[in-house]
Amino acid sequence: MTKAAAVLSAFILSVLMCVTAFAEPYVDTGILKLVNFAHRISADYVPEMVRFEDTSYYLNEEAAASLSRMLDDMEKELGHAPFVVSTYRSYERQEQVYNRDVNSAVENGVDIADAIKGTSRYIALPGASEHQTALAIDLSNDGSLEENFIESEAGVWIRENCHRYGFVVRYPKEKEVYTQIGYEPWHIRYLGQPFSDILFENDWCLEEFIAHMKRNRYMVWEDGENIWTMYFTENPGAVYDSNTMVSDTNSGGYIVTTRRSGESLISVVDGAAKTRKDMRIRLYAMNCANMAAGAEDEQAE
Ligand SMILES: [Zn+2]
Repeated sequence: MTKAAAVLSAFILSVLMCVTAFAEPYVDTGILKLVNFAHRISADYVPEMVRFEDTSYYLNEEAAASLSRMLDDMEKELGHAPFVVSTYRSYERQEQVYNRDVNSAVENGVDIADAIKGTSRYIALPGASEHQTALAIDLSNDGSLEENFIESEAGVWIRENCHRYGFVVRYPKEKEVYTQIGYEPWHIRYLGQPFSDILFENDWCLEEFIAHMKRNRYMVWEDGENIWTMYFTENPGAVYDSNTMVSDTNSGGYIVTTRRSGESLISVVDGAAKTRKDMRIRLYAMNCANMAAGAEDEQAE
């Protein structure tokens, strides 16, 4: 090879390497982003959003569609549905809401330290509010946001059923120790499937689910229709298929989730596992093998 050809091929190679390095191997859905006092998001974080129905509220597209379906179903089942009083809030807006609440307490004679403490129990600091993700919604029967929402028919319905639409009641009463936010039966957060079911069935708040994933690294979840496998990784560097989704957790890693329909899995195991129990055991073994292979790959890098 001539010197010029060698230089040229080295150049082409380096361009290819750069392209590979900058290629986006996955799309971060952001759906599992943990946002709280200890896990903040930056002031300039603005998610992709759509207008919710014909209102002036903005939401994540999937969350908006699911919310519409849920409120329609409530209307049919209960004869009425709560209305939306808050969705996406920008960092600046959160700052205004927070400061206004602190200032009004101070004006009413509350000591500044106590005012901040009181406000922080229900209103997150700017950057610590999940309303900035466009995945959180406040619902109300009458415009107020009070704990007695849970005493209403709508409040009870939401607690029992919102997981079927991909939502969770984000700040349960008994989870304040983890969320650092007081009980808010009106505040729901979109996570989508299978996560809303997983949290509901295990009685976990989002902090607990993410801690579980960080500790155990992976999980298999079966919902009757699909089998979901998910794992926690600091480096989701692979190229995934359309059945796989990746979300940043905003807490030191990503959760990679793959959905397989129950039927396709039965064909994968080729009739060898006739019973559900056998299938589960096989799935578990497959996962362990995959995880081991993945761990080796990571070490190789
Ligand atoms: Zn809220």
